[in-house]
Amino acid sequence: MKIILENLTKKYPARGKKGGEVIAVNDFSFEIPDGELIGLLGPSGCGKSTTLNLISGLQKPTGGKIFFGEDDVTELPPEHRGVGLVFQNYALYPHLTVLQNIMFPLENLKGKNKLSKEDMKKRAYDAAKLVQIEDYMERRPSELSGGQQQRVAIARALVKMPRVLLLDEPLSNLDARLRLQTREEIRRIQKETGITTVFVTHDQEEAMSISDRIVVMKDGVVQQIGRPQDVYDDPVNLFVAKFLGTPPIGVYKGEIKGGKLYIGEDAVLSVKKLADRKVYVAIRPEGYIPDAKGALHSTLKGVEVMGRDISILSENSASENPVIRSIISADSKNAVNITEKTVAFALKPHKVFLFDFETEERIPFETV
Ligand code: ADP
Ligand code: MG
Repeated sequence: MKIILENLTKKYPARGKKGGEVIAVNDFSFEIPDGELIGLLGPSGCGKSTTLNLISGLQKPTGGKIFFGEDDVTELPPEHRGVGLVFQNYALYPHLTVLQNIMFPLENLKGKNKLSKEDMKKRAYDAAKLVQIEDYMERRPSELSGGQQQRVAIARALVKMPRVLLLDEPLSNLDARLRLQTREEIRRIQKETGITTVFVTHDQEEAMSISDRIVVMKDGVVQQIGRPQDVYDDPVNLFVAKFLGTPPIGVYKGEIKGGKLYIGEDAVLSVKKLADRKVYVAIRPEGYIPDAKGALHSTLKGVEVMGRDISILSENSASENPVIRSIISADSKNAVNITEKTVAFALKPHKVFLFDFETEERIPFETV
């Protein structure tokens, strides 16, 4: 089922003395293709949950429309939308068994949708098998680990065979290893069922790893939509460049002068057809090549060996990062002499982005 969001907007009255309003979601338009998993990504408070609640029908938009396939569902109450919801706190019924929890949404079906006890049980077992929890059906939630409880919550969301699955930070309460495992599970289940899914998270790595497409939001406004690798390789503005990637991108104040890009006194690249101006220069950690003849000079602060890779820590007075991390392959470990005070880098041009100093929008460039 494809989902279309058309100029979706949600405003709240501000609670402060000044009055006014908070625009939690601002003019969001997007067509979610059938069967895709969309990662809705952004810092806390950027409007992710509000967007999800508008899609589920738990909240009404101030403006705009929502379509499921050809159907306008904007005015449809949540129980008629056919959505499955999973939240961060699994919200299971503590006094019910796993089986009863999963069956619960089926108990309320009425009229022609009403199911026999047998059918309900069968559907519950099918959902439980999908999330591999079928051996725990007689336990109560308190007798399960966090990861198992979240699986039960996912099974409960799937048991009604929803048209759309909505997950709001479903992994946040799990420890690191379970988080990794459960996100792979969610991806597998989503692929097996083909249910169009929106997955909300503030964790860029999580969103990048499981999404067909990511939507990056800031202050209620969509910044960029695209395949994770494309957004990483081609951020539209400084916010998106900084939000994606671990370790984070290094950001420097720079300047274009006479066809050369300067960071401090260092002319790091020759660029074509750009007028003299101030810019932000952002360099991905994998964009540095240690090279005694390299143009960028920074103060060497340390070298961390991480097995496959090596992290070079440096400082540069033009950078807004207190410490800049450059990642190089462990094979080239002899390229850096840790007893030196400074380190010199050549740069991979496609890992270097320029942004306007005022608007922070991307400035395309070509090297000579
Ligand atoms: P996220 O899920 O990305 O952290 P939310 O969608 O929960 O963000 O919130 C977006 C913005 O809307 C925030 O500024 C938040 O304070 C505000 N907000 C959310 N719910 C309400 C509400 N019921 N009343 C007033 N403001 C709200
Ligand atoms: Mg939220």
